[in-house]
Amino acid sequence: MTMASVPSVPSVPSVNSSAAAAFRRHIDVAPTGVWSAPGRVNLIGEHTDYNGGYVLPFAIDRRTDVAASRRADGIVRVVSLQKPDDVVTADVAGLRPGDRRDWSAYVLGTVWALRDAGLDIGGMDLVVDGGVPVGSGLSSSAALECAVALAATELHDIEISREALARISQRAENDYVGVPCGLMDQMAVSVCRAGHALFFDVRDDVREYEPFAPEESGFALLVIDTRAQHAHSGGEYAARRRSCEAAAARLGVPSLRDISVDQLIDALAELDDEELRKRTRHVVTENARVLTARELLRARKLSELGATLTASHMSLRDDFEVTCPELDLAVDTALNSGALGARMTGGGFGGCAIALVAADAAPVVSSQVEQAFANSGFRPPKIMVPNVADGVLRIA
Ligand code: ADP
Ligand code: MG
Repeated sequence: MTMASVPSVPSVPSVNSSAAAAFRRHIDVAPTGVWSAPGRVNLIGEHTDYNGGYVLPFAIDRRTDVAASRRADGIVRVVSLQKPDDVVTADVAGLRPGDRRDWSAYVLGTVWALRDAGLDIGGMDLVVDGGVPVGSGLSSSAALECAVALAATELHDIEISREALARISQRAENDYVGVPCGLMDQMAVSVCRAGHALFFDVRDDVREYEPFAPEESGFALLVIDTRAQHAHSGGEYAARRRSCEAAAARLGVPSLRDISVDQLIDALAELDDEELRKRTRHVVTENARVLTARELLRARKLSELGATLTASHMSLRDDFEVTCPELDLAVDTALNSGALGARMTGGGFGGCAIALVAADAAPVVSSQVEQAFANSGFRPPKIMVPNVADGVLRIA
């Protein structure tokens, strides 16, 4: 892989001691350390990761902390402050996919995946304090996995690259939790750097840091959590993956990443199924949009990024068909009230939209979106302007 313009060593954010304090309450001693992983927002490149394509996520300053110590008895004991009634214990040597179906699968699955990769991880006490909104498409799941993975490896003096940590965390989610996610979330959570978006070419495993600090050039990136989560999203995600695989197979390529925009018209002519044509058109044009966005970030031309973001949303709405009324309303309202561009972010069917706005327009756009949600009888959205933060690290 290549690493262009690698920024300096991550800064350590101020220590949120609630995980450590809770650890002391539960376990009666101070933890050996506290590890912290961010949520992430995908700027552009949606449903492209599992097609071997390009993504452009950044980490946000909403984080999940894990306070942890080793135990000598081979038992993992895990508590989450977000699930206060549950104390989960398991024998590390006996972990098997399918053991657990609840939240603790993300933790135990990570320990299982580390051990399955041949790493000698023993018993631990883990206390989780999650500050990433859960189930909003900001990847609280990857934050939890990656924080646990870094805690477990550092506690056991195991050196492992952040890239390997991301892949092991993805394996935990795919094979232990049973969610067929691509690699974007875990990679973003593992390797992102403050002030930068991560350009990640999944097929070629190329990662580059592109400058992204909207506030430095008079912009703000609003993250609008619609708080909608449509029940069928898991099944629809799997169905989209299958359609993309079917289209690639009919086109005789390993993945849709291998179709360029120049080849798109010919490729669409080869497909006799309208649904596969639409899915293919989204993936191919979305990959092209990521490259456009990357160039604009490099040239520090955020003022020109809006149209590309909005085109991504239209493609996700009309061709990939993964938006929902709440996401469309958030995007339409943001655009109508002055946003330069807006799109859904994450898997779709609920979760978050983003809107790029001039900094001084942020209050107006926010209040217009809130008003539109109220008028439509939707739950009040939660709107935040996150800072562009560092990936997983030890904070204490
Ligand atoms: P997202 O990753 O978009 O937030 P997911 O459905 O992929 O949504 O992952 C959310 C799940 O991850 C939760 O339902 C829960 O099982 C688990 N999880 C995330 N953060 C925590 C936490 N702090 N405590 C307990 N479980 C958590
Ligand atoms: Mg997730």
